[in-house]
Amino acid sequence: MKTSLQIHFFIAIFIAIFFLPTSAFAAYYDNVKADAIYKKIDLADYVDQVSGEELLNEYKRLIASDDEIRQKLYVRLYCWNQPSTTDSELASAIKYAEQQLLIYSVPYPSAIHTDLLLCLGYYKQFSGQLDEALDDLSNAINNAYELEDPRLIADGRSIRGAMLSYQGNYSSALEDLITSQQLYENLNLTYWANDNLSELAASYRRFGDAETALKYQIKLEQAYLKANQQIEADNINNQIAFSLLELGRIDESTARFKQSLTFWKTQKDNIAIADAKTNIAGNLIKLDKIDEALVLLKEAEKEIPVSNDGPHSSLMLYLAQVYLAKNELDKALEYSQLASIDFNRGGNQRGENENIYLKSDIYQAKGDIENALKTLQKFIKMHMALDKQNMSDRNSEMQARFNTNKIQTENEWLIQRDKDKEQQLQILQRNESMQIIIIILVAIILIIVSMFAYKQVIRKQLFRRLALTDELTKLANRRDTYSQGHYFLKSSKLSGKPFSIISFDADHFKMVNDTLGHDMGDKVLVKLASISASMMRDTDVVGRVGGEEFLILLPNIDKTKAIEIANRLIETIADYDWTQIAPNLHQTVSAGVASYSNEEDLSPLLLKADKALYSAKAAGRNCVKAE
Ligand code: GH3
Ligand code: MG
Ligand code: MG
Repeated sequence: MKTSLQIHFFIAIFIAIFFLPTSAFAAYYDNVKADAIYKKIDLADYVDQVSGEELLNEYKRLIASDDEIRQKLYVRLYCWNQPSTTDSELASAIKYAEQQLLIYSVPYPSAIHTDLLLCLGYYKQFSGQLDEALDDLSNAINNAYELEDPRLIADGRSIRGAMLSYQGNYSSALEDLITSQQLYENLNLTYWANDNLSELAASYRRFGDAETALKYQIKLEQAYLKANQQIEADNINNQIAFSLLELGRIDESTARFKQSLTFWKTQKDNIAIADAKTNIAGNLIKLDKIDEALVLLKEAEKEIPVSNDGPHSSLMLYLAQVYLAKNELDKALEYSQLASIDFNRGGNQRGENENIYLKSDIYQAKGDIENALKTLQKFIKMHMALDKQNMSDRNSEMQARFNTNKIQTENEWLIQRDKDKEQQLQILQRNESMQIIIIILVAIILIIVSMFAYKQVIRKQLFRRLALTDELTKLANRRDTYSQGHYFLKSSKLSGKPFSIISFDADHFKMVNDTLGHDMGDKVLVKLASISASMMRDTDVVGRVGGEEFLILLPNIDKTKAIEIANRLIETIADYDWTQIAPNLHQTVSAGVASYSNEEDLSPLLLKADKALYSAKAAGRNCVKAE
């Protein structure tokens, strides 16, 4: 009973020791995997939207629901990786960002709140909510500075810079884009540095410095091709085509647009194919190949949705130009109006200015001089405003270029702060893995120690058993029998309950040995032990106290009952078929009974029993006597 309890205890410890580090290790391993995926998504180190979505799902699956830090990272990643092509997709992306912003509004500002605000501004920009988008982005950037988080500053200023550049606000755009460029490069975020650089180059082109733009773009194209980032390479190829166009190198530009068309045909992306056709048509118009241009534009018109206002505005403008050239003036005016809607929606003032000039031409061709003049005046006013802005932009641009020192120092400080933070984080992470290692080591040590302890317990039990057991009969030996007898005697003394003993001895045993041999004698002793033990209760003790002498301890048994038991014992032994052991063998025993009557010790009681046994022997053996 005692032994099995101990064994259960050890098994429980083993299970606990194995389970604890195993589950801790599994959780730790999942986190390592999740962090690797996070890095992959964050660095845009995957091929397309689909595998990005798969990675995000895998990330979600790996992280624990109570792991607040990683759950927040998941929300941030999810926000940025939502589909956003159609109007309804944009609307639901905006809704998600807004909902999460409410959830993470406290504490303010926080990294997650700032990132979600950027995400919201990013999607709002594409849904035409330009002013609100600018507000959100600027607020987020301010918060990022407050948090001294260079990555968020870089992301925010890159997005805002691209937006401002598209709208024609070059000075602010350049400052944003140069800042984020330096931050991305310092943070070694190559993908995002390249992405930002392409925006910077586009700004230079829009600003009228196509030469500088082209220089950056060619470099970027090589980087993307080398990294086999085909989508990015195609994007930059188109940018190069626009820069070439600006520089008057129309044939080279057209060749690049055609290259893009071929690429998208292999990708079977109809909108992108239509986009490429629109761009080619734009070049054809400049070469006066009006009919060829119209064919391409009509094909494109079927594919490009109105919500895609960048490409759609070009398409409308080109169609207006084509119809003016073909002298289909109502159609020309209609498309020019549609182009206006797109340009205004996207905040593209440069485009709208070009469109207004075209509109004035259309009115003039229609003979509507009044509207022609009015439109022309509008054009001049807008052009002057843009020029004025351009002038200040030029100043700012010069400033931005020469002011990079200031930006650089500011950024370096930010980067240093960031590195410090990262180092702290690494120390924390190292602590986390150290903890796991310590748990595992402690577990191993515990296992070894408890294995030793367990072995010791088993060994001790074995020694104890050996020390208290008679080797031949497996009964309690003399020492154990006397010590238990002593205990029973003391209990009786306390409780007043009876206690009896039977001392019995094999009759003429010397003769058995002499005639049948010592081995047969041993067998007889073993049989005597098993017969007597099987006849007693569990609470009784049967011991071998001498060569062929046995002692039975009977707690709670009085003298009369003990005599009865002794008689039953000698009868059973005498009746046993001893010829099973040896032919002609007939073994009997004699027994002496004694009961406790206030003896101080066990010895006088034993003496009484021995006296009774002697009497039994004297009375002719195979009988019971009591004292
Ligand atoms: P009695 O009826 O008077 O008891 O006669 P007895 O022969 O049994 O008594 P005695 O004391 O003269 O002999 C005891 C014998 O028991 C002597 C010894 O050889 C034998 N004996 C003692 N221990 C063992 C043992 O472990 N194995 C065997 N085979 N014999 C043993
Ligand atoms: Mg004997
Ligand atoms: Mg004897």
